[in-house]
Amino acid sequence: MSKVMIIGAGGVGRVVAFKCAQHPEVFSEIMLASRTKSKCDIIARDVMEATGHRNIQTAGIDAENIPELVKLMKHFQPKMVIHVALPYQDLTIMEACLQAGVHYLDTANYEPKDVAKFEYSWQWAYQERFKDAGLLAVLGCGFDPGVTSVFTARAAKHHFDEMHYLDIIDCNAGDHGKAFATNFNPEINIREVTQKGKYWENGQWVETEPHAISKMITYPNIGPKKSYVIYHEELESLVKNFPTLKRARFWMTFGDEYLTHLRVIQNIGMASIEPIKYKGIDVVPLEFLKAVLPDPGELGTNYTGQTSIGCRIKGIKDGQEKTYYIWNNCSHEAAYKETGTQGVSYTTGVPAMLGAMMMLTGEWSGTGVKNVEEFNPDPFLAMLGKVGLPWHELVNIDLEL
Ligand code: NDP
Repeated sequence: MSKVMIIGAGGVGRVVAFKCAQHPEVFSEIMLASRTKSKCDIIARDVMEATGHRNIQTAGIDAENIPELVKLMKHFQPKMVIHVALPYQDLTIMEACLQAGVHYLDTANYEPKDVAKFEYSWQWAYQERFKDAGLLAVLGCGFDPGVTSVFTARAAKHHFDEMHYLDIIDCNAGDHGKAFATNFNPEINIREVTQKGKYWENGQWVETEPHAISKMITYPNIGPKKSYVIYHEELESLVKNFPTLKRARFWMTFGDEYLTHLRVIQNIGMASIEPIKYKGIDVVPLEFLKAVLPDPGELGTNYTGQTSIGCRIKGIKDGQEKTYYIWNNCSHEAAYKETGTQGVSYTTGVPAMLGAMMMLTGEWSGTGVKNVEEFNPDPFLAMLGKVGLPWHELVNIDLEL
């Protein structure tokens, strides 16, 4: 029985609140805090109505203001924070956790607002301070990073003596009926998918132009979809933690219509993060674009189809070549029915809750700053299907890659 503080009341925050409240035996008291308190209040009302959990408080908080965060944490005294606001707030929330003596978990690595670049170095730099404080910070516990990292840890533990080739494949075959929308925070999403492609090969990073490498990949229950190599944050920690990997790539599906919109957005300067003066006011084009695009948390109403995300791995077991595929498919409709939001928020929020459950029940323990693949994958995967994301695996199949 523990107190937990969820920071962020977007699509993912909504799912985390629902899933924590479904497990009152672990999350006995919940505080949902975010920039706009009214959004927390709506979620808290819906969650209490749906789950019967009676102990959910809300608060307005600026998660970039460390003293304000520390004050709220000291007042509520949570055992841990589940941070599902934006990656810009990772460091301020980690800093506040250290000052208030609270464990930390997030789903996306830090990225500065003024440079579209994400990497773990800023958060890994907190290693000694979390160790000295006897606290644990778990990084990247959504789906990707998160479940994909745990899938890779399972492959290493149970299926291979040496993993050589890792391909993480991420397909969203859903249809929300909008001409253009992003499935999570538009600003973060557009920064991620417009950057250069990058993958790991033979001990170094290989950089490509955006979307330069593509291939048809067949996804279970979905069929073939054009998939593109993009850089994704878990590659950085996975090649460090599994040094036998000769190559590690991340593939994501994009429809032609989506890519055309993205190209236009870039060509007309709307993806820029450089402020421009408009009628005497500084406006960041990408932030303005976010304000006019559909809210990802509200895409769920007419969202049909599924996501399919998994890891395809080649390596050696008992001196023989082996292939392995592990994945989850998630239905947007089922996610919406349960939590009032779409599958991408659901596949991120469920693992965030489960990672927190692992920490609070002592299955994942220790001190310092750790990525999820550093923990025992077994208790997490034993629960993942039960909490809403069933997974499947196949060995010695044609991986297509
Ligand atoms: P949303 O934009 O829907 O929600 C973000 C929330 O954070 C909003 O409630 C927002 O408040 C709040 N927020 C923003 N700035 C502050 C601040 N300074 N102080 C307090 N609260 C703040 O995002 P999503 O729910 O779609 O995504 C949440 C996180 O999940 C992101 O970090 C994203 O990168 C990550 N993610 C991870 C994935 C994974 O698989 N690992 C996949 C998808 C997302 P307000 O409502 O006032 O704007």
